[in-house]
Amino acid sequence: MTAVLDIEDLSVDLDLHKGLFSNGAKLNLLKGISLSLDAGQTLGLVGESGSGKTTLARAVMGLQSISGGSLRFEGQDLRASPAPVRQGAAMMFQDPIGSLSPRMTVAALVTEPLAIQRRKGPTATELLHRVGLPPDLASRYPHQLSGGQARRVCLARALALGPRLIVADEPTAGLDVSVQGEVLNLMTGLKAQGLALLIISHNLAMLRHVSDRIAILYLGRLMETGPTERLFANPAHPYTKSLIASEPQPDPRKRRAVLAIKGEIPSVLRRPQGCVFHSRCPIAQDLCRREEPILRPITQDRMVRCHFADNHKQGDTHELVHG
Ligand code: SF4
Repeated sequence: MTAVLDIEDLSVDLDLHKGLFSNGAKLNLLKGISLSLDAGQTLGLVGESGSGKTTLARAVMGLQSISGGSLRFEGQDLRASPAPVRQGAAMMFQDPIGSLSPRMTVAALVTEPLAIQRRKGPTATELLHRVGLPPDLASRYPHQLSGGQARRVCLARALALGPRLIVADEPTAGLDVSVQGEVLNLMTGLKAQGLALLIISHNLAMLRHVSDRIAILYLGRLMETGPTERLFANPAHPYTKSLIASEPQPDPRKRRAVLAIKGEIPSVLRRPQGCVFHSRCPIAQDLCRREEPILRPITQDRMVRCHFADNHKQGDTHELVHG
């Protein structure tokens, strides 16, 4: 079966000086990114701000040119043309109200993608129904919507052209927990209908709830990828361990025996040599400062970028149980 999305060794560079004053200097934003996503699957992409997750989302949507590697949508090479992904994928932006034109009604907003492409498709009422909104909302304007309603309108708009892939940037940010649950249930329902979802967030608990696989991004490098439950049960990379350890534990007797990571994520302008995580890694060694590790398999379906990551063993646990 052809993957909906297939990314291999992708890199993205930014020209630092364009036009007449160009001196060829480049800033590397992403390097060595390899991911794939099948129909009916959700991939959760985790990263702090500055990790490159929005750049990756833009590259997937054909909005950011890539410098190396390959990016295929349903088997078609997006370096040759971004047209297939522009027709078959839709993006949900992080700021729902800000991404909706304030002068357009909900009806006009959700059907606008069809109007732009001069295509026939579902009516506004049908699209609203698909995301659980009543038809009388069609005549409202964005400022008259609640945060949850605006998020659903964005989703309805994303569904207008019948996409096979939805890229959602922080789909639940700023929502109450109960509304977050409603939006996530809606997205899970879409997955059951065969859509592929790429969900980008720093909210690990949310991604654990909805994702089949997780990818951890740090300073433009993939640190670890794997099936969600196995990655959470037995993280291999020190960064993944610390992210999971910093999540609130429902059982206070359980504490993770993981050293905390230090400081903030460095700027991409001052990316550390060697392993990009070494300036914060509690187990960094000399080799880490000299050589950048490759992303290597530790089991058939798990990859990690670390010289010293644990080889994955069933039953290996990093939890201490107190009391
Ligand atoms: Fe830490 Fe070294 Fe592994 Fe990087 S390669 S995560 S610095 S142990």
